[in-house]
Amino acid sequence: MERQEILQWLREESNAALETLWSRADETRRCAVGDEVYLRGLIEFSNFCINNCAYCGLRVDNRTNRRYRMPEEEILDAAQKAASLGYGTIVLQSGNDPYNTDAWVAELVRKIKRTANIAVTLSLGEQAFETLALWREAGADRYLLRFETSDVRLFRRIHPSNCGEGHIRITLLQWLAELGYEIGGGMMVGLPGQSYESLAADLEICAQLDLDMIGIGPYIAHRETPLGRQAANYVLPPDQQVPNTETMACKALALARLMRPDANIPATTALATADKANGLAHGLTRGANIVMPNVTPIHYRRHYVIYPDRYSEVMDPDSHYRYVVDALSALGRPIGKGPGASPALARKGNGFKAADGGPGGDV
Ligand code: SAM
Repeated sequence: MERQEILQWLREESNAALETLWSRADETRRCAVGDEVYLRGLIEFSNFCINNCAYCGLRVDNRTNRRYRMPEEEILDAAQKAASLGYGTIVLQSGNDPYNTDAWVAELVRKIKRTANIAVTLSLGEQAFETLALWREAGADRYLLRFETSDVRLFRRIHPSNCGEGHIRITLLQWLAELGYEIGGGMMVGLPGQSYESLAADLEICAQLDLDMIGIGPYIAHRETPLGRQAANYVLPPDQQVPNTETMACKALALARLMRPDANIPATTALATADKANGLAHGLTRGANIVMPNVTPIHYRRHYVIYPDRYSEVMDPDSHYRYVVDALSALGRPIGKGPGASPALARKGNGFKAADGGPGGDV
């Protein structure tokens, strides 16, 4: 898609015209990846973070956050819980916690892979090449690392840990692909300082990197962060600034589907939080084919405050499962069986190998 067309859609405000975008994205999703929706069990096992990202409530300088680290046994139990709910994938996510040593994470991945036929996705932030290689050898199948914004100047402003040349997260995504991971990237929509041009460039980068998974959600302000408190210092003039609305996030999601038809694209927690009544259903009917129900024990949930008031904050693993199942059944969408690897892997030739060769697995 040409830059001009992307920009036109991002700036489109007529509901009638947007219906065309939603139905084109939905049809593309149906033809390229089918009606199945794959569920990934999300385990947020630590909210300690050494970074100071200007947008994120886990940032080290946020002293209002009660910090936790799940004991290993509890992480393994959560992985079993995900498997027992039929999820073919778990996503292990945390802040950039120094306690996540290379060897400990590698052993954790091995233990999970020994006990469950489940794909393991890591979402553990920026890491050294050797670390990522070790975790891949240990059996990790996928890695999620949003590049957040492809605008290097904005990225550096809101992400002070980035040093060196270029955009560290885009380089890391390239390394992850070389290591044979399925790679997931993506961005926040409506970051103060994000222009329409830069959001269009984000979408182009998703296509150029040939991402297997594209995570897109609206930026949600957290008042204990610099970006939440001082948005006025960052925000652009109204005709340039992308708003952080649910509709704008849906436009980006729909365009991502048109530009990367066979990617796995989640209806993200942030999207479902931005519009608690409709966000999940909108995501799933405007291009998404993945949902990530939370399997973190409920007593930790409200402390993983990336942003406030997440829609799933009060749901324990069973109720989140039922909530998603009900939403899917209302939409007439079946739950995908197995790990739900990106169909793009068939042309790339890497990724999760299911022991039973189940759907979406043996590629
Ligand atoms: N530490 C890992 C990392 O940095 O990638 C994973 C955890 S991080 C909290 C997960 C994602 O949360 C980020 O990639 C970012 O896109 C999203 N996030 C953080 N703060 C947010 C906010 N205020 N609004 C929306 N999404 C946010």
